[in-house]
Amino acid sequence: MIWTQYYDPEVPTRLEYREAKLDELFRQSVKNHSDAVALIFFSRLILYRELGDYVNRLATALQTMGIQQGDRVALLLPNCPQYVISYFAILSIGAVVVPINPLSTEFELLHIFRDAQPVIGISLDLLAGKLESVRETCHKSGEHQILKKTFYTALNEFMPMPIKLLYPLSKKISPQAKERLPHCLRFKSLLKQEPQPLIPNHINLHEDIAVLIYTGGTTGKPKGVMLSHHALAANAAQGASWVQMSKDDRLLAVLPIFHGFGMSVCMNAPLISGSSCVLLPRFTGDELLKGIHRFQPTLFAGVPTMYIGIINHPRLTRYNLSSLRGCFVGAAPLAPEIKRQFEELTASKLMEGYGLTEAVTAVCANPYRGINKTGSIGIPFPDVSMEIRDIDTGENVLTPREIGEIVLKGPDLMLGYYNQPQETASAIRKGWLYTGDMGYMDDDGYFYIVDRKKDMIITGGFNVYPREVEDVLYLHPAVKEACVIGTPDNYKGELVKAFITLKEGASIGEEEIISFCREHLIPYKVPQQVEIRPELPKTAIGKILKRSLRDQTQIYGSKT
Ligand code: AMP
Repeated sequence: MIWTQYYDPEVPTRLEYREAKLDELFRQSVKNHSDAVALIFFSRLILYRELGDYVNRLATALQTMGIQQGDRVALLLPNCPQYVISYFAILSIGAVVVPINPLSTEFELLHIFRDAQPVIGISLDLLAGKLESVRETCHKSGEHQILKKTFYTALNEFMPMPIKLLYPLSKKISPQAKERLPHCLRFKSLLKQEPQPLIPNHINLHEDIAVLIYTGGTTGKPKGVMLSHHALAANAAQGASWVQMSKDDRLLAVLPIFHGFGMSVCMNAPLISGSSCVLLPRFTGDELLKGIHRFQPTLFAGVPTMYIGIINHPRLTRYNLSSLRGCFVGAAPLAPEIKRQFEELTASKLMEGYGLTEAVTAVCANPYRGINKTGSIGIPFPDVSMEIRDIDTGENVLTPREIGEIVLKGPDLMLGYYNQPQETASAIRKGWLYTGDMGYMDDDGYFYIVDRKKDMIITGGFNVYPREVEDVLYLHPAVKEACVIGTPDNYKGELVKAFITLKEGASIGEEEIISFCREHLIPYKVPQQVEIRPELPKTAIGKILKRSLRDQTQIYGSKT
């Protein structure tokens, strides 16, 4: 499929990948843009040459303490310079980054640590209590290789910043954590090392793991996705080429960089392009708008709930959003109404894209200059092939407009799930990644996602894609957020249930929502139940957590 009339002419359909690791591409930026700003963290600006120096110091320190190629290093940090420094230092010595959501519970940490076996962990001081307790549990059960050392940093450890803006984690250190801290090592001490030439490592770019990232938060127990050095570099290069990121760009990174979307789009792509990265450690509508107003980014990437937060913000008109030239959205369905309202508000293009951790992150998007189709996830990135296959055999390629499973192939594909050969074999077949997402392609080669295979509701024998119902709910002026799931029913198999939150000041009853849906949907798609909630549960990057709503519905089944 050639998209001659739709494709952005400035983006080649094939990219020349330098056979280099991501940290080498980053070092190239340090060399080419040494006096340019690499990171902005509140009032602190870090130039490329400073960042390169910190990375070299930390890499030296890690190597001096015996961290070797292939060793895994866990990072439990929000968006902050220490994260970026650690990430590139770990890659530089051929060790493996294991990014972990710092808000994970002890139970979740134990699962990840036992699977990934990180030899050291770098974390926020405020998590010391939790992390040290997990470490003790592992050591007591004889797993001494897990977290031999832990390093702690405070968000403001080596840079001044307004205390009131600190992450909630940085409130008071718990007495339990305080007790343990003297035994632990400070991150800052690592940066005191004079940088030494690194011991050359013989990395196979295509076969060695660079990042082991856990996914499955919305669908089950997290699995470790093994990403090669080549996959990381390719995905960053594809994302950067899509919008021609350059030294003149400034990207606002509020998506967590411990998640694939934030890692590749908000950190890797800008830092190999010489752009500046504004790091915000947490998302609230207020801080996001203030961040855009104050730092005037040209690029932004977010999940739909962030755009919903922006367009519904009560004091929106106070903020200047005119610096934005391009915004990415993905990770969850974007209702057309939200796109329309956002585009009306700003001069920026809003490019919906699609991807998954198993392919680093985004592998397709609407073009920056070509035709942007509302409701579509766009066209594949350079060197990526996407097809729609029948869901029964997964072998037959379907014709335009037929719904099937999205499968894809390209340099971004994971090496597999760590320690899970069976899961890997079912996800990657004959070089194609079976995404578990249902979608179709139109006659112009644009793709559309209808839903996850697992989220499809079967009610009275009819298939209902929750997304379609959610899109209708978003048309209602009182609805702020919507999520539709199937609930068990003895007679119909499943019933359609909608959860919604309301816009500020709106008041509406469930019946009114149901009647509204009746006007727009054929009867079997109309929710039989509507529940209005003050808020909906979300994942770390802000996706509405369907699984949690489903679990709650099953527990309280008859009441809700
Ligand atoms: P993750 O691995 O956490 O990035 O999640 C990947 C999943 O997010 C995909 O398999 C899709 O189900 C979903 N997803 C990604 N982009 C979109 C999109 N634009 N619209 C709807 N769902 C999406």
